[in-house]
Order: sequence, then C-alpha cells, then structure tokens
Amino acid sequence: MLSVLTVPEVGEYVSLPKILVMLVAATPWLYAAPWVAKDVKKVLANPYIWTSLTVGLPSLGILLWLLLGSYVVGLVLFAVLTLGAFGAYVFHRNGRVEPEKRVLTPGHLKKLMGTRRKRKVLAAVEKIKLYDHHNKIVHTPTEDAPEEIVTAYNLVQDLLYDMVYYRASEADLSPVGETTRVRYVIDGVAVEREAMESEASESIVQFLKPASGMDFQERRRPQSGKISIDIHGKQADITVATAGTTTGQRVQFRILQEAIRTDVEQLGMTPAVLKSIRSMLKQPPGLVIVAGRPQSGVTSTMYSLLRDQDAYTKHLVTLETKPALDLENVTQNSYTSPQELSSSLASALRRDPDVVMIDACPDQQVAQQIAQASGEKIILLGMQASESLVALARWIKLCGSQEAAMENLRGIVCQLLIRKLCETCREAYRPDPAVLAKANLSAGADEQFYRPPTGPTVDEKGRPIICEACQNSRYVGRTGVFEWMEINDEVRKLVVGRAPVQQIQSALRRNKMLYMTEQALEKVKQGLTSFQEVARVTQKEKK
Ligand SMILES: [Zn+2]
Repeated sequence: MLSVLTVPEVGEYVSLPKILVMLVAATPWLYAAPWVAKDVKKVLANPYIWTSLTVGLPSLGILLWLLLGSYVVGLVLFAVLTLGAFGAYVFHRNGRVEPEKRVLTPGHLKKLMGTRRKRKVLAAVEKIKLYDHHNKIVHTPTEDAPEEIVTAYNLVQDLLYDMVYYRASEADLSPVGETTRVRYVIDGVAVEREAMESEASESIVQFLKPASGMDFQERRRPQSGKISIDIHGKQADITVATAGTTTGQRVQFRILQEAIRTDVEQLGMTPAVLKSIRSMLKQPPGLVIVAGRPQSGVTSTMYSLLRDQDAYTKHLVTLETKPALDLENVTQNSYTSPQELSSSLASALRRDPDVVMIDACPDQQVAQQIAQASGEKIILLGMQASESLVALARWIKLCGSQEAAMENLRGIVCQLLIRKLCETCREAYRPDPAVLAKANLSAGADEQFYRPPTGPTVDEKGRPIICEACQNSRYVGRTGVFEWMEINDEVRKLVVGRAPVQQIQSALRRNKMLYMTEQALEKVKQGLTSFQEVARVTQKEKK
C-alpha cells in the first residue's frame, strides 16, 4: 500500500527528457535479452532460469523506477538489477565454455573492435564483369550489403580474374579438410595453384550457385550451371559444376573461350598434308577418318574441312551428339543414340548430300552404312585414337572385315595439340647433335632451336621476373600436329591381303608419310615449340 500512497502526481515523471533517459537505459537490455535466449541453448545452460532472470529482473527494475518517488534511485535500481542479471549470466556461461568462446573478456572486446575496424575498409571490388545465367550483369554489392556477401563477391572476382590472367581454361577447387586445393588447366596442362581456406571456397560456391542458376540449398547432389565474364571485351561463357564431398563442396569451372577454329589454314597442318587432304576431298567419293584423343581438336578439324567446301554450291550435312558450333549453310543434326544416328544417316543420305560429317561411329551397323555410303559421297568420320594405325585397326574391327573397311577409305588424319612457345621469353640455342641424332633429326651448323628460358628467375634485388606475355607458363596457345595416312592402292592391297604391319608401314613411308613425332619435331625446327613439349605430348600419347 505504501507504494501506491507514494505514487507521484501525474506529470511529475512524464517529462520528455526523463522518458528519453529511460529508453536509452533500456535499449541495451532489449538487445541483450534475445541474445541470452539464443546463447543459453549454445552453452547448454538452464533456459528457464536465465531467460526469466534476464527478462524478469530488468522488468522489475522498470516497474520500481516508475513507481518509486525518486527518479534517480529508480534509475540506479534498474541498472543494478539489469547489470546484476546479465553479469550473473555472463559469469555463469563463461564458466561453461572454452576460453576463446568467452564473451566480454578483454580478448573478446579487442576482437570485436578489430572486426569493426576491418568491416569499415571492406568494399566490393569489381575486377571483371560478371553475368548470371540469364546473361544479366551481377552488380557489385553496395556499401551496406552484408559482410559475407561482399567477401564472397570479392573472392569470386579474385578467382575469375586470376583464371583469366593465367589464361586458364579450367579451374578445380576441391576441399581437403581445412584447405581447398586449387588447380588450373592452362593450354591443356594441369597447374597447381596456391590453396585457399575451405571457408573461402565454400563462400565462392554459395555465391555462384544462384548466379549460375543452381539450387542454393542443395549441397550434396551434383549440379551444373552457367555464368559469363568479359575477357578483352569479348563475353565468354563459363560452365560451373558443383558436387558435395565428405569434406565440403567441390566446384569446377570451364571457360568456353578457346574458340573452335574453323579455318583449315590455321590448324597447324603442314602445306604438304593440307594439299593432299584438300585434293582428296575435291574428288568424291570416299571416306576420310579424323582421329585424335578426346579434346585434341578433332571437332575443329572436321568443321574446318567442312567449311573448306563451298557451302553455296554443295549440300553439307553433319550428324553430331551435340553440335559445338552453329555452322553457316550447313545442315546440322544431333542424335542421342546409335539407333537414332543410323536412321538420321539413312534419311540424310536420301536427300543427296555432297559431304556428310559424322562425329563418331558407335557400332557395326553404322559402320556398314558409312562404308557403303562412302562409295557415293564424301564422308568425314571422327574417331578416338592416338595414331592413324590405331584408328585403321579400329575401323576394320567396326566394319567386320578388311574388305568392307578398305573399299572406300581414302585416308586417316590423326592429330594432337601441342603448346606453342612464348615468343617473348623463349630462348634460342644450338641443339646438341647427339640429341638430334637420337630423334632422327639433322640440323645445319647454324640452325637454331628454341626452349623455355633457362636464365635466372629473379632479378638482382631478388624479385621474381615475370614474363608479361605468358605469366611464366612459357607457352601461349596451342597448335595441331597432324599425321596423315593416305590410303593408296598399294596400301589398300596390303591391308586387304592381311600383310604384316611392317610391310604396310614401308609402303606408307614410300608414299612420304611422316609419323606424329616427326611432324611434331618439324614444329621444333620452325621454333614454334620445344623438344621438351614434344616429348611431353608424344609420351602422353603412348600411355
Ligand atoms: Zn613468356
């Protein structure tokens, strides 16, 4: 009853400054109480006791403050009750956790100040234009964007910029525990890059998922999507693929920048090879097989040979699982199964084409169709093989007999891709005659070969010397090496007569055929590539 009797007159405490002080005093409590409600679960303290204490005691303080006659005493009471409740809670919860997880300790406060200062300088930096899967630009996060968005954006920018700088066509980020392994593919060669924290690669993945059209929440199932970037003013598509692993999400990028070349003069064929293939395609009918390992440029070569035909006067047709490029004035068909290929080929042939390009031969039925059709048309057939003799054996097996295989086969071109030496930093040298002899090469006394630089890699001050043209990868771009096996009557007769392979090889040699390694060494002689590179690609071929 006492308190009721001492209630002051209305108006005595309802002054604006007093209310403001009250609100300011109560604000920290309004933030701290929900924090306790959450934190209590993390540290496994009793939620009922601590939420009722941290809500109840300050509430009591407010009530007393309102009811007591003295405003100042009320303020002090409120402060004591509130600080007491939260102080007790902090003391209690700090006792339950490891030292680094304690709050309001000097260390914790220092860390808070640190992140606050850091947050101020953290700004999104656009290094490269980024487009989402709808080809809409991904805007740079604004200043008030959440910190993790800005961080993720910057990480994505750094990665894409780095890939472009090093001319990587692929990147692979795979988490291995705390760190993520980063690998690039540059001119077809895998290169290890500096690892990053798994947290960083995780935020890259989570940032790019919505942009590339993937499900943000799906972390296990493999997904793929697409983004685009600007490279030297040209837009390049990047496919993004993610998959959950036991240690986190793996992400792979592939830049579809290496344009498919469709000019037969630029593929890297020697003039002799080009002339021979061209004259063959001018005299129908016949079958020409284009062979190579996966991703060795077979599609480029077939497209180029097709484009070398006059598309206005000739009817050109392709049958492909997935056309890599739209070719002007060429009828391109895609198929999904051997049966579909077989029926598409039959219907294409009924329309009387001049040249038919088929990306692969899956079975004997299609092989027999091709063998027969190449008695009337020019047919270009793609095949996976590392050398033309292997491709020949594979074709015979597909057809079922030497006779069927050889009747209309005119030649097999087999190719691989070799890296071109960087013209800025390559180093001229006189080749060792003994090494040349081993490779069946002879060189004039004044002949120069080239190789990657062997000089110092740092300057007088110990700073690394970086070649601006190749970023020290020592090679820029790739060119094709072509082995051309022309099937003349002599070779045809030997194969049909089941002659030993040495006899076939001598017949090919008499017809001036150069094998893959010899063709590659021609490029060394021209200064286009190095001995080391030839050894690398030809050894890989033999594996
Ligand atoms: Zn260079």
